[in-house]
Amino acid sequence: MTTRAVAARTGADAYRDLSLWHEQYPGSWEPRAALSGDLSVDVAVVGAGYTGLWTAYALAKTDPSLRIAVLEREVAGFGASGRNGGWCSALFPTSWARLAKDSGRQGAVAMQRALEGTVRAVGADAAAEGIACSYTRGGMVSLARGPAQLARARAGVQQARAFGLGPDTLDLVPGEQARHRVGASRIEGAVTTEHCAALDPARLVRGLAQAVERRGVALYERTPVMRVLPGRVETPYGTVRAEHVLVATEGYTAQLPGRRRELAPVYSLMLATAPLPDEVWAQIGLADRATFSDERHLTIYGQRTADGRLAFGGRGAPYHLGSRVRPEYDRVERVHAALRATLVDLFPVLRDVEVTHTWGGNLGVPRDWFPSVGLDRSTGIAWAGGYVGDGVATSHLAGHTIADLVLGHDTPRTALPWVRVRTKRWEPEPLRWIGVNAVTALMTRADRTEARTGRPSRLAAAFWRTLGS
Ligand SMILES: Cc1cc2nc3c(=O)[nH]c(=O)nc-3n(C[C@H](O)[C@H](O)[C@H](O)COP(=O)(O)OP(=O)(O)OC[C@H]3O[C@@H](n4cnc5c(N)ncnc54)[C@H](O)[C@@H]3O)c2cc1C
Repeated sequence: MTTRAVAARTGADAYRDLSLWHEQYPGSWEPRAALSGDLSVDVAVVGAGYTGLWTAYALAKTDPSLRIAVLEREVAGFGASGRNGGWCSALFPTSWARLAKDSGRQGAVAMQRALEGTVRAVGADAAAEGIACSYTRGGMVSLARGPAQLARARAGVQQARAFGLGPDTLDLVPGEQARHRVGASRIEGAVTTEHCAALDPARLVRGLAQAVERRGVALYERTPVMRVLPGRVETPYGTVRAEHVLVATEGYTAQLPGRRRELAPVYSLMLATAPLPDEVWAQIGLADRATFSDERHLTIYGQRTADGRLAFGGRGAPYHLGSRVRPEYDRVERVHAALRATLVDLFPVLRDVEVTHTWGGNLGVPRDWFPSVGLDRSTGIAWAGGYVGDGVATSHLAGHTIADLVLGHDTPRTALPWVRVRTKRWEPEPLRWIGVNAVTALMTRADRTEARTGRPSRLAAAFWRTLGS
């Protein structure tokens, strides 16, 4: 297994070491110019990932006269948006039951429908902007491997039906049908959805950066924001004054003063195989590029890439005290080895496969696992994030919602249940560290016990109940 240090290359090319997607990106990683002096704009956006860029895109498209500046500490797509698993899905970490508690059944269903529409909208916008990100809407297959996973799969689909959501949203298919799509081991059934596309994340975010520039948005790279205040954003190179400021820093938010307890940066790690020969693909399937996972507690996710590799990832990396984020946390040998073992367990044909890339990144997790988007009208400060690893499509919805809020437009989007005040903050350290790592340990243990006994873990089920997920 290759393990490259981030600093293996020098200059702008060092960004290529961040992930498979960064390495394969056909354009340049040369940073754009940094901010050079004070500036006055209508909207200042902190962070050039999907959230910041989709917001800038939606604003510039709706009102081309707006002056918009995006400030990025590294380069567009440096964060999770360039490194992720490329699942553009309608998944949301908060259950329909939980959404319905605050917003009624109608609110929960509206949220689901909005996310499903967003999966299509990402593909349509990418196509309209000429962004070649190999978007393929092949759906998603989450395998039920063993009786405990099958029980959970059934319960999930029952819940969908209770909300009037049909098989396009969630369906339970028998083992044989599932094996036809994904040639994995120990399949007893699968949950499927039509509402998911596989894409190349870096090409999407880099293409989006170019698209916003074409619409007149100013994008400053290598420009770290030190403080976000009402009406202004401070950087070492100047102050940007703006009526509205959007904090779009997701898994990095804890590094901003006063925001340490908003979102915990949780690491997700990935690997990619060398391109696989046709005879291997004949056994694995995924002919329609459906994304795949299984029903375990500790998330795993994979996609067949456009160039015939398997890109595969999962959780399990440690959370670091004080919500620290460092380049060396992106690669953890123990976790990458466990991911490889899981991949081979799924597809024994990959026993001797060459792993060409390993990488990782951090995503934002709110204390209540409830992503949110909002605008505080008293300060002009907006935020969006806390997608708990479901941010590829969700950030598109977030960006368009922030644009509606900033422009003062009441739309069906601004009425969705996640447009709200983020209430719960994380515990101070070291409680946060103990809690986040204890949950990872609990999920790992629950998966092992379920695989051994076939019985659903009561402890893990109790945890999900406390979250309402
Ligand atoms: C390994 C991995 C796999 C994932 N897989 C999936 C998946 O398959 N599907 C899915 O839906 N989601 C997935 N996610 C989550 C998804 O990628 C994120 O939710 C989404 O990209 C968040 O976008 P964002 O723009 O909010 O944040 P980011 O993309 O992290 O962007 C934030 C940006 O802010 C910049 N920044 C930070 N601090 C400052 C500062 N002080 N000043 C200026 N700029 C700053 C950063 O450099 C960064 O570029 C995954 C995440 C990871 C890490």
